[in-house]
Parts: sequence; structure tokens; C-alpha cells
Amino acid sequence: MNFLHQERSALQTFMPGLDASLARYPLAELERAPSPAIPAFREAGGPGLLVPARHGGAGAGPLEAVRVQRAVGALCPSLAVATTMHHFSIAGLVQAAAHATGDGDGPEAPLLEAVAKDGLLVASGFAEGNTGQNILRPHITAERRGGRVVVNGSKMPCSLSRSMDLLTASVALADETGTERLAIALIPAKTPGVEVRPFWGTPVLAGAESDRVVLTDVELDPEMVLVTEVTADAVPDALNTAGFLWFELLLTAGYLGVASALAARVLERPGAADTDPTPFTVGLDAAMLAVEAVARAMEAEEWDDTLLVSALTARYAAQDAIARTTRDCLAALGGMAFISSPDGAYLASAATGLTFHPPSRARMAGPLRGFLDGAPLRIG
Ligand SMILES: Cc1cc2nc3c(=O)[nH]c(=O)nc-3n(C[C@H](O)[C@H](O)[C@H](O)COP(=O)(O)OP(=O)(O)OC[C@H]3O[C@@H](n4cnc5c(N)ncnc54)[C@H](O)[C@@H]3O)c2cc1C
Repeated sequence: MNFLHQERSALQTFMPGLDASLARYPLAELERAPSPAIPAFREAGGPGLLVPARHGGAGAGPLEAVRVQRAVGALCPSLAVATTMHHFSIAGLVQAAAHATGDGDGPEAPLLEAVAKDGLLVASGFAEGNTGQNILRPHITAERRGGRVVVNGSKMPCSLSRSMDLLTASVALADETGTERLAIALIPAKTPGVEVRPFWGTPVLAGAESDRVVLTDVELDPEMVLVTEVTADAVPDALNTAGFLWFELLLTAGYLGVASALAARVLERPGAADTDPTPFTVGLDAAMLAVEAVARAMEAEEWDDTLLVSALTARYAAQDAIARTTRDCLAALGGMAFISSPDGAYLASAATGLTFHPPSRARMAGPLRGFLDGAPLRIG
């Protein structure tokens, strides 16, 4: 079957053996926490996917990365969600390292080397469990105290919370003038004051370990806090625009993979060879082509808000394609398939998860209207 052929081959190139390792487990086992998928991902060298080759990583570009991510989503939905958070954090560190010195050797460089060499996993905590909260305006604050930065608060849901070696968390940090700026704190998971508590209450995507991380008087070296240009207006700076670009593309590709796993079951069902495959493939593949178009543009064009709008367009189009296709797939598989195994309904439900990541479509209505009318793009 040639469906997802390119994606599977990208996965085999960048994470050899992961496909075979995950195939040993039933879907339900992969999707429970603790999931055997996370150690298998480490084993296959997954953490180094976006670490540049000069720092010992695989140095994948955006196009290769989105193909890998669709293949991962088709094998294990929770792993796609969890590793999106890791890869996008790594992309941010690569960007910050390049930004600091212009040659990619900022203070983040040794960390990137450790990620590739030791298979470290990096979680990303932006959300704080409050519906309606703008993710570029964190409520948790970081204070400067006697040459250290001290962080207090909670991040939830935070994927990879139980397996992370390092957490990247958004915090509000006041500058000398008292203006609060968005800053990204790099927090080793073993730092005193870091604790993980249960949070995720549904079996869907439970393998992503999206629990609550509580930070109590966590003391950091100021070098571990990257201050961005983002203030209360929530207009992303270059670092955040890059972060959102990576995030939206990797996330969308992963969820398209989840829906594609359901489509593959339809294409492979008894008697399917004589039926029209297009209702199950065209919408998902077209949405992936849009993701790939933005990934290719990341390799050739400036990373500005116009490109970010393209990434959001690809993502929202994918949400529509997933909704239509998963409904048609469940209908084609039929009632007996629905009754005899939870897998079809599980994949359809997990694929809907794309809707719930920031920034939601409804939240972006005003900012996208403003952008059409010539304003800079705000997030939410
Ligand atoms: C599987 C999974 C894993 C996750 N892992 C992480 C993680 O590792 N790290 C992390 O930081 N976060 C993570 N998240 C959380 C995610 O980042 C979101 O912050 C969270 O799901 C948002 O919750 P919400 O939909 O209730 O809130 P909102 O995004 O605020 O939206 C709630 C509803 O209100 C509508 N709405 C909200 N504001 C507006 C507005 N201004 N105008 C119009 N409509 C509006 C939205 O469209 C939506 O329908 C994860 C989420 C999922 C589903």
C-alpha cells in the first residue's frame, strides 16, 4: 500500500526501527500512560531530529520533519502530540542559539548537544489550565532575587510531564522599567521545587502524559531565562513567530497522521480494492500538501506573520478535512467494526484533538480580520 509511503520512508531514515518497535504493541497499550512509545522514541534517536548536525543531531528540515510527524501520528497519536512539544521546543532553542551569536553557538549549544547525544526529552508548558487565557500572556511570574530568577506557579496540561528531562515554560518577567515581558524559562526536571501531579482526565491521548507541573520557588540561573520582545499586546516577536510556525506545522502533520491511520483501515478492509479510495485520502492528502507547502516556504522565505497566517490556514483546513474524513471513515468501516474494536472510534476522537491546541480558530477570528485589514498579526 503506497498510502503514507513517503512519510514512512522519512520516519525510517530519521528514526530507524521506531515503526517496527511500535508495531509490537496494540494501539490501546501505546495510548495509555506510561506508554512504551516514549522509550522507543528515545531509543530510535527521535530527540535529535531537529538538532543541527553540527551539534550531533539529525538536522532535519521542516519538510522532512512534517513527514516524520505524520508517520508518527499514524502509529501512535499520543507520541505525535508529545513529541510535537519536544521538537518545537528544540526548534526554539536552535533559533535562540543562532540569535544569540549569529553563528549558532549561543549558550543553548551545549544543551542541544546533550539532547542529541543523551536523548533528552524537552516538555513545553505554555498553558495554565484556564479557558480563554492568551498563551502569550502567562499568569505565572518569574522574579529576580539576589542574582537568581525564582519561578512559582503551575503549567497544565503539560505533555511529556512524566518523562521530561527539561521543561521550557512561559513566564512573565518584569524588566528594569517594570514592563512585563514574555520569557521562556529552561528548567531541568530535577530542579528542587518541580513536581508533577495528575491532571489529564480522559483516556484519549493519555499516552502523551499531559499532566500538571507545579513549580514552587524554583531557582534558576538568569542564563536559563530567555527574555522575548513580547509584551501585553501579544504580537509575536521573531522567536515566537518561528515557534508558532514549527508548532502549527508539526502538530497538524501529527494529527493528519492520526486520521490517516483510520483512513488506512478503510483502504485495507476486505473488499476495499474495488471501491473509490478518494473520500478517505484526498482531503487528508490535500491538507498535508498545504502543510508541506508552508514547510517548503520555511526553507526559502522570510519567517514573518504572512507565513504564520499560511501555517494557520493549513492547520484550520486540516481540522475541516479531519472532521469530514473521520466521519466518512467510520461510516465506511460500519457498525460491526465500531462494535468489535474501540480503535476506529479512538482514532477519530484523538484526531479531533487538533481543534483544542492554541490558537483556536474562533480565537483567531478577530486577529485574522485585523491582519486582512493591514494590522500586525496578534495571537488570540
Ligand atoms: C492533547 C493535548 C496536549 C496538550 N499539551 C500541552 C502542552 O504540552 N503544553 C501546553 O502548554 N499546552 C498543552 N495543551 C493545551 C493547549 O495548549 C490549550 O491551552 C488548551 O487546550 C486550551 O484550552 P481551552 O480550549 O479550554 O481554551 P481556549 O483556547 O481558551 O478555548 C476555549 C473555547 O473558547 C473559544 N474561545 C476562547 N477565546 C476566545 C476568543 N477570544 N474569541 C472567541 N472564542 C474564543 C475557543 O475557540 C474554544 O472554543 C494540550 C492540549 C491538548 C488537547
